[in-house]
Amino acid sequence: MAEPTERIPQHKHCIYCGKAFIDGNGRYCSDKCKDTKKEELTKSKNKLLLIWLAAVGVMVIAIVIGRL
Ligand SMILES: [Zn+2]
Repeated sequence: MAEPTERIPQHKHCIYCGKAFIDGNGRYCSDKCKDTKKEELTKSKNKLLLIWLAAVGVMVIAIVIGRL
């Protein structure tokens, strides 16, 4: 039984959508996937920054209250 996938030459899988592709834009099958992934990374980075800022804010408030 021949596996049809074995006949596909050297290919990579897009790390965003998982589609197989030959060569192309690094780890992505298309610029669209690249941009979408980048956008998601930026979004999650901003979220982390917000959480971090909130934690620092709470800490500062706690210190200020402790000194009163
Ligand atoms: Zn893709």
